[in-house]
Amino acid sequence: MPMRETSKPSAEVRLRVEELTGFHGGLVRAVVGCGLGGPELTEFFNGKVRATCVGCGLVVNGEELGKLTLVPGAAGEPDPQSDRLRLGYCGRPNCQSRFYQVVVDSVPKVEAATVVPRALELWRNPPPEPESPDVPKAPVPWWKQRRNQYALGALAVVLIFWWKLGPTEGPLAIRKEPTKYQAAPDPYRGGSGEALQ
Ligand SMILES: [Zn+2]
Repeated sequence: MPMRETSKPSAEVRLRVEELTGFHGGLVRAVVGCGLGGPELTEFFNGKVRATCVGCGLVVNGEELGKLTLVPGAAGEPDPQSDRLRLGYCGRPNCQSRFYQVVVDSVPKVEAATVVPRALELWRNPPPEPESPDVPKAPVPWWKQRRNQYALGALAVVLIFWWKLGPTEGPLAIRKEPTKYQAAPDPYRGGSGEALQ
């Protein structure tokens, strides 16, 4: 008996026009969570997701819904249909309807009846982001890392001993021999002091 994967039902949800982009974002996350990616994802939104105006029947597919999240005009060409949808109107001029019926078909990895409620949930209550590897916490500066603090402490001790006991000349010297003051004339003791004035 052949498998009947394609007979899995579609799922539908009715949304206001301005809710379409939010739902689309939730749906992307939901189907990615089902393991869809790359070309499969594009194919899914192209062919298995469509929004139909309840007033005039204008159909907007999932890929076009994705474009609504772009900055107007970013794609280059003027797109009056997307501009109207972004403003909360039907994409067809003069249509007064504000609602679209979104239909999502199942594919082998994605069961529509599960993924549509999940998409609504992800849209309305997006999960917090900290688990995302894209947003790392501020890194601890190297001098605050405990391992490096031990090393710095040890280095300080070595430097102190070196300063006290180390060589006073040669390439490793870090201090000079105490300066010997011997040639400075002393004006308070007469003699050469007179000559300086
Ligand atoms: Zn319409």
